[in-house]
Amino acid sequence: MTDLKALTKRDPAQLARPDVQALTPYQSARRIAAAAGIQGEIWLNANESSDADPMAPLERFFNRYPEPQPEAVVKAYATYAGLNENQVLVTRGGDEGIELFVRTFCRPEKEAILQFPPTYGMYSVSAQTNGAEVINLVTSPENNWVPNVDVAVELLTQRPEIKVVFVCSPGNPTGNLVPSDVLETLAKATQGRAILVIDEAYIEFAPETTAVNLLAQYPHVALIRTLSKAFALAGLRCGFVLSSPSMINALKKVIAPYPIPTPTADIAQQALSPVGIEVMRQRAKACVARREALRTALSALPGILAVVESQSNFLLVKLNDANLIFNELRNQGIVLRDQSRQPTLDNCIRITVGTEAENRRLLDALLTLLTETC
Ligand SMILES: *Cc1c(COP(=O)(O)O)cnc(C)c1O
Repeated sequence: MTDLKALTKRDPAQLARPDVQALTPYQSARRIAAAAGIQGEIWLNANESSDADPMAPLERFFNRYPEPQPEAVVKAYATYAGLNENQVLVTRGGDEGIELFVRTFCRPEKEAILQFPPTYGMYSVSAQTNGAEVINLVTSPENNWVPNVDVAVELLTQRPEIKVVFVCSPGNPTGNLVPSDVLETLAKATQGRAILVIDEAYIEFAPETTAVNLLAQYPHVALIRTLSKAFALAGLRCGFVLSSPSMINALKKVIAPYPIPTPTADIAQQALSPVGIEVMRQRAKACVARREALRTALSALPGILAVVESQSNFLLVKLNDANLIFNELRNQGIVLRDQSRQPTLDNCIRITVGTEAENRRLLDALLTLLTETC
């Protein structure tokens, strides 16, 4: 006989913080696919670059700890962003940057983040795993998912526990831009009471819209950047926080001592060389061209209710029965990302722009399915 009570008692998960026990793990694109046992051939679910160039670290010895902040990478990114080196923090992907803001600025059980759903899932995951409350101000498709600044400003006054505000532009999963005057209003409203984090993971697909100019005037504003999207290096795990020297120093107190592995720094340095940046720009440009072609083709299919205009490397599509189409395509090895559970995104699917051949296969499969089901 097994003593169930004793077994439960010995389960180490029972010793976890009660708030952690109550959490469900972040549903990353990879995790969802693995859990469903998906044998994908065409991966259009994680906004990765569909093409890349082979890269390899030049360094061959790894017995020493890496530089805490690899100088060559900091220097190269500062040049690329048009900032000083003391305004750059290299992180283990953009996700680590997000986490650092919560851990540096929100006291557990006391303070909160503000976000504008539908938005990127890691803001709330970082908040929840660190005991910070998540305050949501849902945006609407009628306003192109731009935060309502009047309500946001009021919320900031009513809820002094809000310490970090996360805005994503271009937005994931919506692909929209938050206009610069809205960002500046948020910067003014947060001054002296909260940090404004503008997530620019997709900025290379709309580089002229960067909010980098706000940094000169507002030391409490920060940008999140990454090499995972336009730089085609999601597997590298390299991102950046751009802000004032004072903000960077605060985050440095919290970041792990050696966050950037030597091979990562080595390859990041190559990717951020003048040639590497030019290659990235060409790749982003080609991706934008394929995105627009895909958007036109999708819009012409029967049963596609809307294809949202996008400033990034993916498209958000509204259908009659997103779940059915998602599952049918998945069974054919074409993996997309169902966004139906996000507020205002009922029956919406997010499609990462693939290679020309991948996009063609997707369109062929969709045409057949939608003709059958319409
Ligand atoms: C992909 C992404 C990131 C960061 O991804 P990393 O791979 O951790 O660099 C951050 N924000 C948004 C909105 C993203 O889509």
